[in-house]
Amino acid sequence: MEATKPLMEAGRIAAKAREEARSFVDVGKPVIEICDFVEETIKRLGGEPAFPCNVDIDSVAAHYTSPAGDTTIIPQGSLVKVDIGVHVDGYIADTAVTVCFEPSRMGLVEAAEAGLDAAISNVRTGARASDIGATIERAIRGRGAIPIRNLTGHMMTRYLVHAGQSIPNISGTRGQALMEGEVYAIEPFAVPQDAAGNVTDGAPSNIYQFRKKRNVRGDAAKRMLKFIQSSYRTLPFASRWVLCKFPGSGGSEAFSELLGSKCIYSYPQLVERSHAPVAQAEHTVIVTGDGCVVTTA
Ligand code: MN
Ligand code: MN
Repeated sequence: MEATKPLMEAGRIAAKAREEARSFVDVGKPVIEICDFVEETIKRLGGEPAFPCNVDIDSVAAHYTSPAGDTTIIPQGSLVKVDIGVHVDGYIADTAVTVCFEPSRMGLVEAAEAGLDAAISNVRTGARASDIGATIERAIRGRGAIPIRNLTGHMMTRYLVHAGQSIPNISGTRGQALMEGEVYAIEPFAVPQDAAGNVTDGAPSNIYQFRKKRNVRGDAAKRMLKFIQSSYRTLPFASRWVLCKFPGSGGSEAFSELLGSKCIYSYPQLVERSHAPVAQAEHTVIVTGDGCVVTTA
């Protein structure tokens, strides 16, 4: 298949960036340095970020990236998810690692990884997404944790990170059969047994996506929208990526205008409802007849 080559290349770059990030993340380090490091690493290796590097601390399960000038640092004893997206010619790899600075939380990391391993060994053409979800839940519960039930894995297509079909992290859902050649990101999230086990919308994530071309008044806003559409298409982007191309107060005003006119959409952070610590593991797979190829191994 024609797309296999860029998919594998994106996967290789994402895996390399993830392993470099694993050693780069440290207590006391500014989050914005981690985001910049990961995104620079992706480009150095010949890819493009498919979405901003996410650095999600403790009960933030997903969708935090640094705004320009972020002063957040990695706290002591934290559980840090670094979630990395790479695209090569629009073909996407999505992978994550949890770095744990609190030994008593290592079990959560192992539970998320066990869920991911179990899912991967069950993916094949014709397997049901609902059965994969049941497998993930069993593996996580087998490690004394529970999965977050309203976060799922997702199919990916060219330039689309969330392409409709999902892979649940729990049993008891209705799910489609996986088809040969489909690309999925599988991503179990594990929390302690006494946690709520779901996420709710939190503060803005500093991650945005183009939504619809509408008339805007300002010249800077017009130029900015053109830049966003041509640079990121349907992929999520960071405000800091755009603002560094449009410096000064004019840039910030144009960005606000695009938000206000709903040309762009602002993602919220996804926060565990009981504020429990969250661990995540994620790989991208291509479904084959009798199994799958993990592009981000
Ligand atoms: Mn991800
Ligand atoms: Mn994902």
